[in-house]
Amino acid sequence: MLFRSVRLGHRVESIAPLAASQKAGSDDLHHGLEIGGHDQQTHAPFQLHADAVVLACHSNQAAQILNGTQHPALPMLHAIDFQPNTAYLHLDASLMPRRRAAWASWNYLNQSTQEASSAVSVTYWMNRLQPLAFSEDVFVSLNPHRPPDPKKTLEEVRYEHPIFSEAAVKAQADLQGVQGSQGVWFAGAWTGFGFHEDGFRAGKQAADSLGSRVCAAPESLAKAA
Ligand SMILES: Cc1cc2nc3c(=O)[nH]c(=O)nc-3n(C[C@H](O)[C@H](O)[C@H](O)COP(=O)(O)OP(=O)(O)OC[C@H]3O[C@@H](n4cnc5c(N)ncnc54)[C@H](O)[C@@H]3O)c2cc1C
Repeated sequence: MLFRSVRLGHRVESIAPLAASQKAGSDDLHHGLEIGGHDQQTHAPFQLHADAVVLACHSNQAAQILNGTQHPALPMLHAIDFQPNTAYLHLDASLMPRRRAAWASWNYLNQSTQEASSAVSVTYWMNRLQPLAFSEDVFVSLNPHRPPDPKKTLEEVRYEHPIFSEAAVKAQADLQGVQGSQGVWFAGAWTGFGFHEDGFRAGKQAADSLGSRVCAAPESLAKAA
């Protein structure tokens, strides 16, 4: 079995069944799907032919790709909402606890100081979270009540995170019944609790279902599954 991934910068925009005439002559293709999209830099179109596709993107992005098809997963994909979150990579220690002795790897910003918002607000102390090759303190703040000092800001990134409402949790369960339908599989942290482990588990589950034995799950993940 041959696994291929789309190239970095290639944006998938559609998945459609291959016409019988396009399948003719290819002994390798059984299901026959055409994956189409564009290179985001050059805008050049690309096409790939495959038997099965794993959409390892967010559910709303998968819904966009399958838009216009009759795929049975669409109601489940639409049932999961996402909320925008802004992260800053910065050097501004004023978003950390005042007393350095109180600094931890994750530092929650006091809810009472924030405007009415349900978004989690936290500053990560990167030097403590992972070994860095320098001693200067570097932070990542997620949804801070005020942005860090622009002169001390290295990067601002907008992310989207799934909202695990009752409807979303039901959709996650229902999704299992349509995995692989029309040759399309779904993976990503949104299929679980939104953590790295969930992304790993979902990707491995899709690969296993396709007949691959890529690697054994670490014992802790296998137990949690
Ligand atoms: C600041 C911050 C801190 C975090 N800390 C933690 C933590 O400590 N522990 C933890 O477990 N989790 C943490 N998370 C959450 C975790 O990083 C994410 O949940 C996880 O990375 C999601 O993985 P994913 O593979 O599902 O999605 P993503 O990492 O978002 O990957 C989806 C990929 O699909 C690609 N894609 C989307 N649409 C298309 C398309 N049409 N064509 C081609 N490609 C497409 C995207 O470019 C992207 O590369 C954190 C998140 C943030 C923002």
